[in-house]
Amino acid sequence: MKLGIALTSLLGVLMASRAEPCQAKNCVAWADSWGAALQEARERNVPILLTVQQDENPGCDAMFPIFNGDGGFIRASRQVVCVMAYMQFKDRPHGTRKVKVGNQVVEMCKVINGITCEVHERCVGAVANFMSEAKFDIPVQIWVKPDGKEMRDLRFSGVEGQSAGEMLSAMKKALDKVPGPKLSRDGWEKLNKLLQEGSEHLAKYDFKKSIETYKKVKDAKVTAPHFTRKAEEALASINQHGEYLVEEAKQLHATDPKKAKEDLERVAKDFKGLAASQKAEEALKTLK
Ligand SMILES: [Zn+2]
Repeated sequence: MKLGIALTSLLGVLMASRAEPCQAKNCVAWADSWGAALQEARERNVPILLTVQQDENPGCDAMFPIFNGDGGFIRASRQVVCVMAYMQFKDRPHGTRKVKVGNQVVEMCKVINGITCEVHERCVGAVANFMSEAKFDIPVQIWVKPDGKEMRDLRFSGVEGQSAGEMLSAMKKALDKVPGPKLSRDGWEKLNKLLQEGSEHLAKYDFKKSIETYKKVKDAKVTAPHFTRKAEEALASINQHGEYLVEEAKQLHATDPKKAKEDLERVAKDFKGLAASQKAEEALKTLK
């Protein structure tokens, strides 16, 4: 069986989707980079919290325990995308500690849980998108819409830092400013995994399982527009391929009616739930 053009290009697109598992479930799921944060925020339709921290700053020292171990904050943080911008002193690097993630042992930052020093240093680059001042008080909390624009009224900058309650209150306001359905970090990981499975079934020409999987994404109770669109696009392309197979079988009918009938029966069965299946059923009736 050859794949129609639409389906082949769809496979390329879908195989690129990925779900980055959080490094540990008991820490904030820090984004790997500003680019990754923007993509995740768009896919989940949620705001981004960009926090700017530094060493030997009493306000930051007071905030680290929130990021590292405040269960209420860590759970709530999964409603948004979190980015840690933290430049360590060059002569006094944070150092690493070994953490078990699944079956692997990885070296993570000694100061902030669930992140490597490389990632929190890389994310410092994002600060210039919002702050051009030569001097500002640290810590800073910046709240950003999924389109990358800052919610300026929610910005905090002050040497005293923020409490978990103050950050949660800002988080609620930030969430209220983003209209439409939103996905938690866990929901996003789950739907990305389903999209991945759908494309894997498709790569094996298992249209039935692929359709079932994309329908799960399309009909998910908790979702965001990105996933509904992805699933609808995938189902439309699979259907297009099914209709192409129906047309091919109809043409084949003149020379090999037995094979044509078998092909149509297979499309009717494998593409159940899509228009292509009905078209195959109709063709089977008229070609009798
Ligand atoms: Zn570090």
